[in-house]
Amino acid sequence: MAEKLLAIKPSTSPLAAVKGMNDILPAGVPRKDKLPDSALWRWFERTVDAVMTAHGYQSLLTPVVEPTALFVRGIGEATDIVEKEMYSWTDAMNGDALTLRPEITAGIVRAMIEHNALYNGPLRVWSIGPVFRHERPQKGRYRQFHQLDVEALGCAGPDVDAELILMLRRLWQALGLQIGQHVRLELNSLGQPAERAAHRAALVAYFERHAEQLDDDSKRRLHSNPLRILDSKNPALQGLIEAAPKLAEHLGAESRAHLDAVCAVLDAAGLDYRINPRLVRGLDYYNLTVFEWVTDHLGSQGTVCGGGRYDGLFEQLGGKPAPAIGFGLGIERLLLLIQELGLPVPSAAPDAYAVIGEGAPLPRVLATLDALRAAGVSVLMQAAGKDGWGGMKSQFKRADASGARHALVFGADELARGEVAIKPLRRADAAQTTRALADVAQWAGELLHA
Ligand code: ATP
Ligand code: MG
Repeated sequence: MAEKLLAIKPSTSPLAAVKGMNDILPAGVPRKDKLPDSALWRWFERTVDAVMTAHGYQSLLTPVVEPTALFVRGIGEATDIVEKEMYSWTDAMNGDALTLRPEITAGIVRAMIEHNALYNGPLRVWSIGPVFRHERPQKGRYRQFHQLDVEALGCAGPDVDAELILMLRRLWQALGLQIGQHVRLELNSLGQPAERAAHRAALVAYFERHAEQLDDDSKRRLHSNPLRILDSKNPALQGLIEAAPKLAEHLGAESRAHLDAVCAVLDAAGLDYRINPRLVRGLDYYNLTVFEWVTDHLGSQGTVCGGGRYDGLFEQLGGKPAPAIGFGLGIERLLLLIQELGLPVPSAAPDAYAVIGEGAPLPRVLATLDALRAAGVSVLMQAAGKDGWGGMKSQFKRADASGARHALVFGADELARGEVAIKPLRRADAAQTTRALADVAQWAGELLHA
């Protein structure tokens, strides 16, 4: 290992990020790829936090690296993810087979089993973090991307499925997305294993009759996992897939009742949806309810969020059986959508920007800024270079570019009188005022609103 690292020659040429893996940068840093800035991310995270709290979901974090077996057993061997998208390697120290997580659900279920977390009953959890898939990078598709992952664990009823979907409507509304116009809901039922087996037999017979039309991927999956053929993105196969036997024809009364119960809640809540019989999802562990929120504004990367019920996964991973439902939301895609639509997002600008004159006594300036911050005012201070702060003119330029609503002018004259000048930057009608430094607690509030 150490020899391999030493083989990397010393060099001073700059290094770039790994292809398909992106930096999330502060607002105002110019970048060619137009990916959302960190201010947009933080706003998304704050919004998620509020919506999750309102629904009784608690946050949790699990490792980014997991045993490879977790995903092979959890996601399924014949899925795109396990077949060709995982970053897997053998640990050089002890030979363990490890993988960078390609999704978050399997790790959460592993953690729940390991800590016997459902001992006291159901648990609702959410997590945000990076996931890794070796795909061809393009807009809305990356090799490292981030998911919001939400799981209702130990919950069997269709009421929880509906609640989860309605919670997403709440999230869209909090982010300013319009249902119907910007995002819409597609829904399906995958039934229970026995129903899927009957459907699977019908599918195999159907695709065998049309084997000459299948591509290589589909031929391989015909016997390992024929349901996956329905998920194929190959345009040449779409006609064949369209006419294939539908799972709906094999659903039993209980499965149909579960779907009907979900729909009844959505209908009562006035949420529009479309039953899409071809919606199967790319992971093996789903049963009963599956759903996706899709958009027409992101080209072919149109799914912003997908989820479903996975009542068999706990058992499959060696735990006590426990019903569960959850979803994964692609944060980059969602933020790209918000950006693309030009939706209003809250400003990340500070309330005020301190412009500091040559020779101004720093202790008084910093004590004033500290008092302002204690009163809840956000203040950005001009950072001095080796020649001081630069001229007032250049400082005002920066104050303007920062988006702050006020400039706090700490000129040597003002400070000598124990004052600071407050210059409104965004309102032509408002005049400059002066305030006493000693009374800062009394006037700090003015900077928050005006
Ligand atoms: P797709 O059909 O677009 O490949 P998927 O079915 O593989 O999506 P999921 O495993 O359901 O996706 O992951 C949940 C969400 O994560 C997706 O709905 C999407 O928003 C996002 N996502 C999936 N793959 C990528 C990727 N490579 N880059 C960015 N976001 C992604
Ligand atoms: Mg995929």
